[in-house]
Amino acid sequence: MTVAIDVRGEIAIVTVDNPPVNALSQTVRRALLEAAETLDAQASVSAVVLVCAGRTFIAGADVNEFGKPPEPPHLPDLVARIEGAAKPWVAAIHGSAVGGGFEVALGCRFRVAARSASLGLPEVRLGIVPGAGGTVRLPRLAGVETAVDLVTTGLPVNAPKAVEHGLIDAVIDGDLISGAMNFARAALAQPLPPPLRNRAVDCPAESYWEAAEKAVITRAGCEVAPLKALACVRKAAQFDFETAIAFERETFLALRGSAQAAALRHVFFAERAALRPPELAGVMPREIKSAAVIGGGTMGVGIAAALRDAGLPVTLVERDEPALERALANLQAICDGAVKRGRISAEIAAERMAGVTGITDYNPLMDVDLVIEAVFEDLGVKREVFQRLAGACRDDTIFATNTSYLDPERIAEGMSRPDRFLGLHFFSPAQVMKLLEVVPTKATAPDVLATGFALARRLNKIPVRAGICDGFIGNRILKVTRTQAERLLLSGATPAAVDAAMRAFGLPMGPFEAQDLGGLDIAAFQRRAARARGESPVAPIADRLCALKRFGQKSLGGWYDYEPGDRTPRPSETVAEVIAEEARGMPRHDWNEASIADCILWPMVNEGARILSDGTANKATDIDLVEIHGYGFPRWRGGLMYYAQAHGLGKVADALRDLAGKGLAGPPCDLLVEAAEQGCFPGGGNQ
Ligand code: NAD
Repeated sequence: MTVAIDVRGEIAIVTVDNPPVNALSQTVRRALLEAAETLDAQASVSAVVLVCAGRTFIAGADVNEFGKPPEPPHLPDLVARIEGAAKPWVAAIHGSAVGGGFEVALGCRFRVAARSASLGLPEVRLGIVPGAGGTVRLPRLAGVETAVDLVTTGLPVNAPKAVEHGLIDAVIDGDLISGAMNFARAALAQPLPPPLRNRAVDCPAESYWEAAEKAVITRAGCEVAPLKALACVRKAAQFDFETAIAFERETFLALRGSAQAAALRHVFFAERAALRPPELAGVMPREIKSAAVIGGGTMGVGIAAALRDAGLPVTLVERDEPALERALANLQAICDGAVKRGRISAEIAAERMAGVTGITDYNPLMDVDLVIEAVFEDLGVKREVFQRLAGACRDDTIFATNTSYLDPERIAEGMSRPDRFLGLHFFSPAQVMKLLEVVPTKATAPDVLATGFALARRLNKIPVRAGICDGFIGNRILKVTRTQAERLLLSGATPAAVDAAMRAFGLPMGPFEAQDLGGLDIAAFQRRAARARGESPVAPIADRLCALKRFGQKSLGGWYDYEPGDRTPRPSETVAEVIAEEARGMPRHDWNEASIADCILWPMVNEGARILSDGTANKATDIDLVEIHGYGFPRWRGGLMYYAQAHGLGKVADALRDLAGKGLAGPPCDLLVEAAEQGCFPGGGNQ
């Protein structure tokens, strides 16, 4: 039984029980429709309370039905049937009421929710708009502005905020069902409000819509669904209910088959799969109750903040008092920033800081379950840290390194119990970036690896398993990005043109702007190390800029010039001269936005294919996740490898051959050539 009816006096309780998240499968839709019929016919029943069993209210559509033709009864018909029921329905929400789940709740005459519940219409995140009246009923319930916020961002609202905005009628503390029944009895004693379909909407002036459109375009860039969602709310505000419903349905159906929706569905499934790697099925992660971070620099402070966000007590270890003070002040600044942006309250910020212990010796680390090392990128320094840790910690404490480029196998050499050691590569700023590369060594125990994945989940991050090589998955591809960007400059493009082309493609910033932000010195350090290993990285211009001490924004000059206190990049004459000198005698090409993007992206794809063929990544979707969550690759393009697949791998291979002919890239690797014949990468997901 997925839907049960329990009549208690004049109130019927309808319980949906479809684990794990009470998704709106066809069986649930049919059973709810039948429940509405049955209860309308029961004279003794005056009101219906709709609840869900398990950990959540209806958390949306059934993902198993994604991309398949929907079978009746369709969700809009179910919502309309509940709305038109002879007895008022009260949705009693706990957990999440999202997507179709929230639309069902909007069909109910009333909504109440547990304090911890959240509600939302996240459809735009899948490249679609709500398809069962969400954009039409929401403005009739809570006004246009709230509806626009919810449907164009897809972000959830918690129960207390939902009451403020009129999305729900009451927050229930204590037992949800009894609270909802009491609410229903009280509501029956009053004149009933009309169903949402019969309520009027206050339509704002034209200037509101113009501003809303601008705001959506600024936020969503090339994503189509948010603008379409706005158009649906506008239709709902300006036209009658039936016209708006028809428009929403038409928009929903058109978007459902779009390339962006397919790409976003691909990412959605890739993210779900990333959290539970099949090779770790049945392996229990270890329990982590406390953690320590060694090194309170850029990364250590961010990692400590991420651990505190997840509620873990943190010990932060620095090498001396002044460094510790700086680290704690920077951590405080992160908390203050979160308060300023309204993300957390001042009380929570204080609680976060109270959960951090700063120390400069390792003795108090006996009781921590996990230590993450984030000291200088130096093999000797890191090895010494782990030696000291081995003396200070329990012998089952998990040790992790946040190294970017060093070989974790070498860091672990001579370590007692190397089975407890792995790489956990966070991205900067670590409290914000969602990617976590999880890097096992040959000795890492399966439950230690599983703990790395479980930690990512707890920190609300996306874990990707990466093999050991120079730069793991992400930074190895980044090196190719930078090489290509520099090759473009040597063959006639300008930094501004390259950056503009990559922004037009959908990246938050171009490769040169990104280097100026992060600092050119880190990559220069990597190149020195690579040259010492006998490699020959291509960066003649970046090398010259570093020699001129142009390290980026922090030195008021890098690929661009900067004014003090102003991050606006200004084209630099010095850089133009260096480029002209380095490019002397080299063939020049005419570049436009599309050809610049191809010259950068296809060699990145080629490197991705090499990463697959040498086993550094398990599957192409993992590379997609690395690029999206570590480097801002546009989610709506599905990730690097998916984008190439959607473009056509044969065309990508041809383009690489063409670039190779001009000396601008290497030829397609064997795996790419094979994948081009198959039409997809191994593990590349469906198109
Ligand atoms: P950083 O120079 O900002 O910070 C390093 C900190 O470690 C300093 O505060 C230093 O005082 C402290 N430290 C050095 N030796 C110590 C010791 N023995 N005990 C305790 N503290 C010690 O460096 P960062 O940018 O935070 O990088 C740290 C690590 O993270 C490096 O391995 C780096 O490759 C890696 N990483 C950096 C980034 C990034 O974008 N910065 C991203 C991912 C990974």
